Amino acid sequence: MKQFRRIGVLSSGGDAPGMNAAIRAITRTALDHGVEVMGIIGGYSGLIKENIVPLDSRAVSNIITKGGTALYSDRCVEFKTEEGMQKAIATCKKYNIDAIVAIGGDGTFRGATDLTLRGVPAIGVTGTIDNDITATDYTVGFDTAMNSVIEVVDRLRDTCESHARCNVVEVMGRDCGEIALKTAIACGAMAVAIPEVPFDEAAAIAAIKEAKESGKRGMIVIVSEGVFADGPDGKKIPYGEVLVKKIEAETGIESKFCRPAHMVRGGSPTLRDRLTASRMGVKAVELLLEGKSNLVVIEENGEITSMDILFALTTDRMYKNKLKEGDLDKFNEEQIAQMKAICEKRTRDIAEQYAIVNAINM
Ligand code: ADP
Repeated sequence: MKQFRRIGVLSSGGDAPGMNAAIRAITRTALDHGVEVMGIIGGYSGLIKENIVPLDSRAVSNIITKGGTALYSDRCVEFKTEEGMQKAIATCKKYNIDAIVAIGGDGTFRGATDLTLRGVPAIGVTGTIDNDITATDYTVGFDTAMNSVIEVVDRLRDTCESHARCNVVEVMGRDCGEIALKTAIACGAMAVAIPEVPFDEAAAIAAIKEAKESGKRGMIVIVSEGVFADGPDGKKIPYGEVLVKKIEAETGIESKFCRPAHMVRGGSPTLRDRLTASRMGVKAVELLLEGKSNLVVIEENGEITSMDILFALTTDRMYKNKLKEGDLDKFNEEQIAQMKAICEKRTRDIAEQYAIVNAINM
C-alpha cells in the first residue's frame, strides 16, 4: 500500500448525472483509509487558479441524489499548455496533493495522463452521458440521460398519437450513436439515424408510409446529433432538421422536430448511475492506494476494473478510425489484438441493436 497523505478530486468536461455519487465514493473511501481529500473546483482550471476546498465526510452528504456536479466542471484550454500544466503541478505541490482522481471523458483522461507523466499520479473515472469511450462498456450518466430521453419521447408520442403526427427527436451523443440507438428501441421508434451506420432514408420513409396505411397514427424517429446532411453552402446541417421535412413531404404526415438537448444532461441520477459511480469511485481510490496510476476505471462484462489510459484512448481512436501514424508503436501484437477485439465487440453490439429497431418498426 502506498502512503498518500492527501488526494484531490475533480470533475471535468461535460457534466453527467452520477458524478456526485463518484465524488462521494472517492472522498469517503480515501477518508476511510486515513487519506485527506481536497475538492478541486471547476475541473482542471481549479488546479490552475488554486480553487481548492478540503472535503470531509459531511461535505459530500446529500449529493448522491443530485445531477450535475457539486465540484462544478469546466473546459480549461490553459491546462493543455505546458505553462498551464506546470501551474497545476505547482498547485498540487503547494497543497500537498499527492494524487488526483479525475471524473470525465476522454479529454479529462488525457489531462490525467499529463499529470501522471509530470509526477502527480492520476486515475480517471468515466463521467459522460454519451457512452462514447470504446474501452468501457458503460460510462456514468448514460442511463440517466437515456431515461430522460424516454420521458420526453413518451410525452411526444402521446400527442403524436392524438394528432396522427410524426416527431423526429434529436438526441445527444456527439459522434456516438449509443443514446439514440438504445432509446430508439425503448421508445418504439420507426427509425433511428446514428453516425456509426449508414442510414437508409428511403427504407425508413417507406416503413413510415406503410405504417400509416395500416392505421398507425403516432410515429417517432430518433436521430443522433452526430448525423449531418450537406447544406446548400457546403455547411453541415443537423440531419434531423432535414429528415423531418422529407418525411412530411413524402408521406403527407404532419411532422415536428424536437431537440431536448441539455435537458437530458441534468436530473437525479438513476440507480444504475449511482451504483456504477459509487463502485468506480471506490475502485479508483483502491488503485491509487495500490500504487497504480495512469489508469481509467472501466466496466467490462459487469465487472468494475481498470485499463491503462493510453491503451483506452488508442482503442478509442482505432474504433473511430482516427489512428495517427505511430499510435500503435507502443503496443505489442497481443495488445493490438485486444484493442481490435474491443472495437469488434462494440461494432457487433451496435449492428445487433440497429437490426432490432428495423425488425420491429412496423
Ligand atoms: P471530456 O473529458 O468530457 O472528453 P473535454 O474533451 O472537453 O471533455 O476535456 C475536458 C478537459 O480536459 C479540457 O477542458 C482540458 O482541460 C483537459 N484536456 C482535454 N484534452 C487534453 C489534452 N490533450 N491534454 C491535457 N488536458 C486535456
